Amino acid sequence: MDRKAKAVVCREWGQPVQVETITVEGPKRDEITLKIGACGVCHSDQSATTGKIPYPAPLVLGHEAAGVVIEVGEGVTAFKEGDHVVSSFISMCGKCRQCVRGRPVLCENARKAMFTLPDGTVRTKGADGEDLNVFGACGVMAEYATMHVDNCVKVDDTIPMQNAALVGCAVMTGVGAVFNTAQVEPGSRTAVFGIGGVGLNAIQGCVTAGAEMIVAVDNNEKKLQMARGFGATHTVNISEVEDAAKAVKKLTGGVDYAFECVGAGAVVEQAYKCLGRGGTAVVVGVSDPKDKTSITTLTLPADERVLKGSWLGSARPQYDFPRILGLYKAGKLKLDELVTTTYAIDDAAQAFEDMLAGKNARGVIVFETDKGVTQ
Ligand code: NAD
Ligand code: ZN
Repeated sequence: MDRKAKAVVCREWGQPVQVETITVEGPKRDEITLKIGACGVCHSDQSATTGKIPYPAPLVLGHEAAGVVIEVGEGVTAFKEGDHVVSSFISMCGKCRQCVRGRPVLCENARKAMFTLPDGTVRTKGADGEDLNVFGACGVMAEYATMHVDNCVKVDDTIPMQNAALVGCAVMTGVGAVFNTAQVEPGSRTAVFGIGGVGLNAIQGCVTAGAEMIVAVDNNEKKLQMARGFGATHTVNISEVEDAAKAVKKLTGGVDYAFECVGAGAVVEQAYKCLGRGGTAVVVGVSDPKDKTSITTLTLPADERVLKGSWLGSARPQYDFPRILGLYKAGKLKLDELVTTTYAIDDAAQAFEDMLAGKNARGVIVFETDKGVTQ
């Protein structure tokens, strides 16, 4: 059935987001409709409002949400009404070469589901009946969302949705970059550039992995304080030093792992430069498609350095989302502390402004789930 839903929409690149009442159609084959409980505000959503991530407008934002299944389409067996689900902005078909070799974030069919559902159509319509694209085949910054099951992961329904939601992006991306992409060993020396929702999670991933040193690098003192709260052993405020990479090298002698969580070629260069011999720099930030980076070529062979990327923390979402939530339940990962401000959907524009101003670890839009399912 069709449902009216408030949704956060980008109508035009460069303009503030707006909250609109849209229509969310019910599920087709292999799709489910969720009543969303909470959706985190990620820098990638912001990047889609400027064209840095060039998803065409009009676009329903949101890719980091938890919700409850309220309707299932034909052929759906893995989900039933009442299940709690976290969105994955990567569609995983489970059958292509990349999926079967254990690399679902590289799914060969994922590119079909960038701003539409995998069949190239959408279930979201604006007031004039026009199609609205959906961020990462999700579009979950809305009261309801109809998604393909390949973008959905069933999770423990005892975990508050505002915590579970964050596993859909920030936590998986940051912790996964450490656990899966870099495979940081105990005793490693590490550095994290950019202490947003993603960088804080890279820090707590390094803590859980048993890193000896964790240097947090940012230009915002408040973020550096948060980093200490999440387990950073040292901080570098880039506005107080001439060269952040040199400052990190001075503290550590060169790190084994550096994580770039900003999305700029210049910061990738710093992450690479602060490596010690045999070090690995992991690029997590999403830069403009035209952005470039440069490194000293000789250091690749002579130091056996590695420069690699990490997409959704190299996740196997069906395995990793529940695993990460299990670590939270066991008291080994912080999720409560990540949610520094919650917003009603009507205040979405403020949530984006606060993210740009660096006010939050994560700002989360929380919907009225406690009033029960209304249709
Ligand atoms: P955020 O806005 O919450 O945090 C970014 C942080 O970087 C801020 O604390 C800011 O002060 C800091 N910063 C800005 N310029 C800096 C510089 N030159 N040096 C050091 N720090 C600097 O953003 P977020 O939501 O944490 O996302 C971070 C990046 O990760 C974005 O580019 C986002 O698009 C990307 N991202 C990537 C993936 C992935 O799968 N690879 C997933 C989600 C987000
Ligand atoms: Zn994100």
